[in-house]
Amino acid sequence: MNKALRKAVIAGNWKMNKTRPEAKELVEAIKPLVADAGCEVVACVPFTNLETVLDAVKGSNIKVGAENCHFEKSGAFTGEISADMLAEMGVEYVIIGHSERRQYFGETDETVNKRTRAALAAGLKVILCVGEMLADRENGITEELVSLQTKIALKGVTAEELKNVIIAYEPVWAIGTGKTATAEQANEVCAVIRNVIGKLYGKEAADGITIQYGGSMNAKNAAELVAQPDVDGGLIGGASLKAPDFAAIVEAATRG
Ligand code: PEP
Repeated sequence: MNKALRKAVIAGNWKMNKTRPEAKELVEAIKPLVADAGCEVVACVPFTNLETVLDAVKGSNIKVGAENCHFEKSGAFTGEISADMLAEMGVEYVIIGHSERRQYFGETDETVNKRTRAALAAGLKVILCVGEMLADRENGITEELVSLQTKIALKGVTAEELKNVIIAYEPVWAIGTGKTATAEQANEVCAVIRNVIGKLYGKEAADGITIQYGGSMNAKNAAELVAQPDVDGGLIGGASLKAPDFAAIVEAATRG
């Protein structure tokens, strides 16, 4: 498999951080630092910041994403945002199935599948998150679990639609904890996911799909992680809120 054929993507997940003025300040700080990036750079931001950030990135190489979307097109779903609403704004990416959504907001593999399909139907690119809990790893079921999450999330997604899907392997025990998976652990599971894609969609799709690692990736450990043969960039939480750190990760992915 030729890693050079795939697009590395570094995506920031701002989570529930930043008011609009703070968001503008952060994007303005990131812009010049990543202007020469050799990878795709994405900022996934809270719904309230989308318009501000879309405006701020105009003329730059930074793409904008949301952190979730609902699976219905419209209707009585108080507090929710549809994929069409995001697409109409000019949002390009959306994170689906983040472990914090699964842990705290009742997200299941089935709803992740529904949201993924809705987002793709609206023309959005999906950053689909999968990953095991610490207990799953200790019970030796990481591969099975992550394979199942991937399969269910992609149920009904066509080969053409898959071109707009990035998968983020995010071991839950590594998110926001400062505990990073080793480069070998990250690569091993990303390779398992690629194998699942190969079985579902064929070799070309498996070779072409971007599979990121996420979980306490930072300016120091990024280079080793993104250099792994099956790791095509990263989904970055905490470090995406510091412009120099985020830029250093983009730089690491540019070097590959
Ligand atoms: C995330 O939120 O997807 C994430 C990987 O967070 P952190 O980098 O802070 O572990």
